[in-house]
Amino acid sequence: MVQFLGAIRVTPLASFAHPGHQFSYQSSSLSLSRIGLSPFSLSKNGFSLPKRILQASFISNASGNADAESPLDQSEIIFMGTGTSEGIPRLSCLTNPSKECPVCSKAVEPGNKNRRLNTGLLIRYSGAGERRNILIDAGKFFYHSALRWFPAFGLRTIDAVIITHSHADAIGGLDDLRDWTNNVQPHIPIYVAQRDFEVMKKTHYYLVDTSVVTTGAAVSELQFNIIHEEPFTACDLMFTPLPVWHGRGYRSLGFRFGNICYISDVSEIPEETYPLLEDSEILILDALRPDRSSSTHFGLQRALDEVRKIQPKRTLFTGMMHLMDHDKVNEYLLKLMETEGLDVQLSYDGLRIPVSL
Ligand SMILES: [Zn+2]
Ligand SMILES: [Zn+2]
Repeated sequence: MVQFLGAIRVTPLASFAHPGHQFSYQSSSLSLSRIGLSPFSLSKNGFSLPKRILQASFISNASGNADAESPLDQSEIIFMGTGTSEGIPRLSCLTNPSKECPVCSKAVEPGNKNRRLNTGLLIRYSGAGERRNILIDAGKFFYHSALRWFPAFGLRTIDAVIITHSHADAIGGLDDLRDWTNNVQPHIPIYVAQRDFEVMKKTHYYLVDTSVVTTGAAVSELQFNIIHEEPFTACDLMFTPLPVWHGRGYRSLGFRFGNICYISDVSEIPEETYPLLEDSEILILDALRPDRSSSTHFGLQRALDEVRKIQPKRTLFTGMMHLMDHDKVNEYLLKLMETEGLDVQLSYDGLRIPVSL
């Protein structure tokens, strides 16, 4: 049940496209290899070249040379960010004169998969003849994520934003939505739990009550819809909230849409949430650090134990801090495929996956 606070569904505008690079993801081996480029479409920057046939099941783009041309009737998910609140590389690592951080030094390189911004996911839902862009979270670095992936993937509208919780790395980018509501579309519906809406009344008071805004100034035009811990619909797609603990006594929501479950911030999954995770095709799950869990996030081993319990077909971890080296951790995870048949890898910013919804 959704409590509507003056919301109107947004009609999306047409998107545009730029061709670029395409990679395939073989779920059996979890290796990435280049495929699918027609003889006429090879280009580093990929602009102004003929279309090529899309045949990848996974499309990689950490270089920023993304491919926008997926079929209009193909839904997909795009990882807007896969890192912790401070971002990776950490400034404190880059400016430390006495110790070099191996992951942050790699993350400086453009296109490196250790370069991570605040966690967030974009669902590109194709239904009823149109494709809508549904964002889960708009954190502090949302502008920088959008700068990187919106033009690259031919994205333009934001048709809904769904909020997991009210930490700054989940809602800090709400102010940046002004560029959309001023210049692309009249407003954006926000789906948020009451407790997090109460926080927004303080952190983003001028977006909740725009009457306080100075005449002539333009801020994001957001329409707040209160969600409860039961299924709701956004842009014709049904979402089932997945209530979890994100630190003792602090609730965060994951979301299930189709057979995809997304839980970005979790330290404990309550027993009553497990049935909602059954028969997942793709589980996207919090895994903060390699050595241990923190009070607010799963560590790698705990996240793997949860994967063994939930038994999704495929898992992608998100929310990694700077101690998680993309290639090294993925190499370790690949071995679990061989030994236990676990299909688990780290996600990365810009990872795009065609999905059935
Ligand atoms: Zn570091
Ligand atoms: Zn959080």
